Amino acid sequence: METTTNQTTKVEAKPSIYSLQLEELKNWLKDHEEKAFRAEQIYDWLYKKRVSLFEDMSNLPKSLRDKLEHNFAITTLKTIIQQTSKDGTIKFLFELHDGYSIETVLMRHDYGNSVCVTTQVGCRIGCTFCASTLGGLKRHLDSGEIVAQVVKCQQALDETDERVSSVVIMGIGEPFDNYDNMLGFLKTINHEQGLNIGARHITVSTSGIVPKIYQFADENTQINFAISLHAPNTELRSRLMPINRAYSLPELMKSVRYYINKTGRRVSFEYGLFGGVNDQAEHAEELAKLLKGIKCHVNLIPVNYVPERDYVRTPRDQIFEFEKILKNHGVNVTIRREHGHDIDAACGQLRAKERQEETR
Ligand code: SAH
Repeated sequence: METTTNQTTKVEAKPSIYSLQLEELKNWLKDHEEKAFRAEQIYDWLYKKRVSLFEDMSNLPKSLRDKLEHNFAITTLKTIIQQTSKDGTIKFLFELHDGYSIETVLMRHDYGNSVCVTTQVGCRIGCTFCASTLGGLKRHLDSGEIVAQVVKCQQALDETDERVSSVVIMGIGEPFDNYDNMLGFLKTINHEQGLNIGARHITVSTSGIVPKIYQFADENTQINFAISLHAPNTELRSRLMPINRAYSLPELMKSVRYYINKTGRRVSFEYGLFGGVNDQAEHAEELAKLLKGIKCHVNLIPVNYVPERDYVRTPRDQIFEFEKILKNHGVNVTIRREHGHDIDAACGQLRAKERQEETR
């Protein structure tokens, strides 16, 4: 494991310019007696050339650079720790302008580089197996803070001429609990003149906030959609995920069907295998029944150890048995490969580190 720390960069409290979508930037320029076409030039500096200073935007008049500098920061993230795992996964700890910190993971696959972004400082969903929710929710991230995570990862890859090829919204937080900022983020990274990451290379995952699933279906995007299911019946799901008491499994499945009808796309279900809880053959049978006729894919996630939680791993053979039962019923299923285990970068292991609180 390799770790570098950086305590010198200045953190700015001004809003990040990454929060503005292209149209919003045009409007801002018009409101400030500037030409709208400058927005495209600025976007080019931000997302294609990826500069860190407004003064480097050399085709803009000095007066405009000063105006931008006066009103915005480029990034509001300060890199505190950058850890590289044996498998190449890089975990970043970023400090926000108000002292909170968040984690972002960059995974290196044979087929490309994937970034796992955080959408909130902490989380209020309370899933019983997840580390991100332990300290509750501190605050939402604005869209610029989410965009900046991808830009930082891209800047790290620029050194070797590589590209962020996909993004998963599976870090800390519940993206559908911070819906508008999440959507702004999606638009910017997907925009041709933004980071230009194709919708089919972006995945958003939710614990199941049903009204937002309908809303997301109506956005009619091509973005991949995943649902954290984790149980084949509503009683068990309520025990694992308190959100199920607000939006029960039947309601969730109804919204998923709506999503599939509306978008024509298949969905992914994440199913964590928690030893002795939801990993028996009968659960696999029940799951296959629940998903019958639904255009979907199941991702089995062997539980990742969280010290504060007492879930244990399902034995290997039993994981394969679970997978086999689903396959025999015609369900598309894969077992999730783990990344960055030695640096605690795997699913459900990220936790908001409230450095501000610790140092008070
Ligand atoms: N809040 C969103 C995004 C998180 S994605 C959601 O719930 O979908 C991260 C995935 O890892 C989710 O499916 C989550 O339920 C799962 N997860 C959380 N803790 C885990 C753990 N200890 N082991 C395995 N998977 C876990």
